[in-house]
Amino acid sequence: MGDHLAATRAATQDRTARARALLATADMATLAAAAEARRGATRPVEPPAERYQPAALPAGYRVLATDGSDIEPDRHGPALCYVLNLGWAVIEYGAAPHAELGNAPRLYYRPEDLYVRDGGRQAPIQGSRLGAKRSVSEMQRLAELADAPATVPRVALSDGLLLFGAYWEGPEGFVRDYFIAQFKAALEQLQARDVPVAGYISRPRGADVMGLLRLDPRHQAECARCAGQSPTGECALEGLADRLLFDDLAPGERSALFESRTLAQHYPPELLPRFFYLNVGREVARVELPAWAAERSELVARVQAVLVDQCQRGQGYPVALARAHEQAVVSTGDRQRFQELVARALVARGLPDRPSEKRAAKLARAV
Ligand SMILES: [Zn+2]
Repeated sequence: MGDHLAATRAATQDRTARARALLATADMATLAAAAEARRGATRPVEPPAERYQPAALPAGYRVLATDGSDIEPDRHGPALCYVLNLGWAVIEYGAAPHAELGNAPRLYYRPEDLYVRDGGRQAPIQGSRLGAKRSVSEMQRLAELADAPATVPRVALSDGLLLFGAYWEGPEGFVRDYFIAQFKAALEQLQARDVPVAGYISRPRGADVMGLLRLDPRHQAECARCAGQSPTGECALEGLADRLLFDDLAPGERSALFESRTLAQHYPPELLPRFFYLNVGREVARVELPAWAAERSELVARVQAVLVDQCQRGQGYPVALARAHEQAVVSTGDRQRFQELVARALVARGLPDRPSEKRAAKLARAV
């Protein structure tokens, strides 16, 4: 097994070296044309092999960050409801440093909170739909935080991919449209306030740039699989993550910008995510910006410099996102208190606080 692992590692190193050589000599116009012709999901925005040093940090800056957590509705509990707990952090550095941390837990129990409805159709808000509700609430809160006036440059941060998307196709399209409309409105509000919003992805697993390189005519010439001649053939670039291409970035340095068009059907062009990889000191992270912000070099430079500074202050992770996360966490104790409060509220209204029979049977078995 040890031999096998060593062989696998050597093969991965070899394949990574080949991918890097392809990137180092890639021609932007050729890649862009190949992506266009093959309807590739990723487009180059800057010369793909280019690297960019961080700009000087502004004398002062303000960072806005939100994060959220939830208590899922318990279909077998005494009452149908769920909780979203939004946490946020506003931290300003410079001449007048200050910080505001907060959280707002909110209980949702009205019919219009529990279901997405469209004519005769309805879908309960739980699982991935509750995840979407949380993403929307986090972005709405970021937009509210951007309403406060500022005398220093600002950056808004959200944890994870910038846009959420296509979980619900087919009959659930109305669910997607319902959430995406609200999410877009919040993103547009940030744009109207001229605040660049960045999605920060720690330990990124994406392979979008690898996917782009697979369309390079030089790769196609030697890969029957990618050239479409052998659907079962082996591709040397398959299964390699983008971060392998960029783990030789110097500290503070970023990669070129690329655009992801995966969600182009659902979002306007100015909101489509453009991303770069960034060496934040302890790792190579992925950073996504809406196209409108990524088109302005001063905003890209600001986001890069601010994130490098935030990660230095936060031991490898943006300090504002870490503070927002701490505010959003729902502990086991909180969950228990929540169940008790729900039960008490029901009793106070003369309603039965007994769980459903199915749940009662499960509880009995557990003891
Ligand atoms: Zn291939």
